[in-house]
Amino acid sequence: MFRETRTVAQLKTQLVDVEAQISVLRAEQHVLVNELDRAQAPQTDASRSMVDWVQAHLDVKRDTARDLVFAARRFGHHRGIHGRMLNGDATFDRTIAAVKLADAGATEGDVEESYRRDLAGVARMLGHTKHVTSQDERQIFADRFFTIQPNLDESRYRMWGEAPGVVGRTIGKAICERADEFHRIAGDLPTSRGQRQLDALTAIAQDSLDGATSHESTSPQVTVFVDARQDNPTETTAEVEYGPRVGPDALERILCTGRVRVVGLDTNGVPVVTSPLGRAIPSAVRHTVARRDGVCVIDGCTSRYRLQPHHIIRYADGGTHHPDNLATICWFHHHIAIHQDGYRIDPDSPPLRRRLIRGSPRGPDPP
Ligand SMILES: [Zn+2]
Ligand SMILES: [Zn+2]
Repeated sequence: MFRETRTVAQLKTQLVDVEAQISVLRAEQHVLVNELDRAQAPQTDASRSMVDWVQAHLDVKRDTARDLVFAARRFGHHRGIHGRMLNGDATFDRTIAAVKLADAGATEGDVEESYRRDLAGVARMLGHTKHVTSQDERQIFADRFFTIQPNLDESRYRMWGEAPGVVGRTIGKAICERADEFHRIAGDLPTSRGQRQLDALTAIAQDSLDGATSHESTSPQVTVFVDARQDNPTETTAEVEYGPRVGPDALERILCTGRVRVVGLDTNGVPVVTSPLGRAIPSAVRHTVARRDGVCVIDGCTSRYRLQPHHIIRYADGGTHHPDNLATICWFHHHIAIHQDGYRIDPDSPPLRRRLIRGSPRGPDPP
C-alpha cells in the first residue's frame, strides 16, 4: 500500500494549511494565557513571571513564551488582528509583528499593508512607526499596576507590575542608582544585579518608612518566640508576633538593631522565659560607638548610609553590648552582607579597617 504521490503544489497547500491550524490553536492559547495571567498563575508555583510560567509548563523556548504572553496581554486591544489569527488567516509570528506595529502607533491602513510584506519588511515598518498616540498613552496609564504578595507562611514575597515608560524609567533609574551604590560598597562580595536591585528597593522602602533624613533605622518593637527546649535558641526558627516567620539570621538581626522582647516557649507553647526589653543596645552606648567610628568601619567602605552598631561577637554567642564588641557599619554591610549573606566581622581585624569573613562563628576560624 503506497500513498499516492503528491505534487509540490499539493504539499505546499497542505503545509500552509497545517500552519493555519497551528495559528488557530495559538490564538486559543492566547485566550487561555490571558485568563491564567489574570488569575496570577505564576504564584501557584515557583515561577517568577508569566513568561517563566508559560516556558516551564509548555516546555517551549523563552522567545516563544514571551511572544505568547505578549500577544495574550495585547489581543484585547487589537481584536481585528487577533480575529485574523483565530480564523487561520494569519500565522502566530505574523500576528505578533502586526500587534507590535499597531502598538507602536501604526494606522489601520499601515497594519493592513504589513500583511502584504514579508516579516523582515514588517520589522522595518515598525522601525519607522515608533510613535505613541495619546490614546495609547491613556491605555498604558490605565493598565499600570503593581502587586506584592506573600506566600502562605510569609517567608517569601513575590512582586511584579507594569508601568508607563516614563514611570518605569523613573523607578528603574532610582533602583539602578541605589544598586550601583551598593555595587561600589560591596567590593568583592559576589552579588548579582538582580540581588542588588532588590537590596536597592528595600533600602528605598526603608527610607520611606524611617524618613529619608534619619541615619539610624528605627525598627518596631517586636516579640520573638523561640523554642526554649533547644540548647541553642538561635538555631530554631522564630515567629515575630503578628508577622512573618523568620529564620535564625533574621532573629540575630532583630537582636542587633531592635527593641525586642524574646519569649521562650516550652513543648506546649507556654512561655517559660521572657527577656527584658533592655536586651537592645542602650542608646548611650549607641551614641558612643557612633561618635567613635563616624563611618562604616569595613575596610574600604566610606558609606554613611544608615550607620548602625553591630555585635562583632554575636549576642547569641555571648557577645556583649560593650563598645569594644560593637562596630559601626552601613546598611548594606549590616543587613545584606552580614545578617543575610552570612559574612561576619573578623574580630582580629583592626577596629577601623574591619574585614569580612565567611563562616560560622562557632566553627574553627579559617587558617
Ligand atoms: Zn548586626
Ligand atoms: Zn559599609
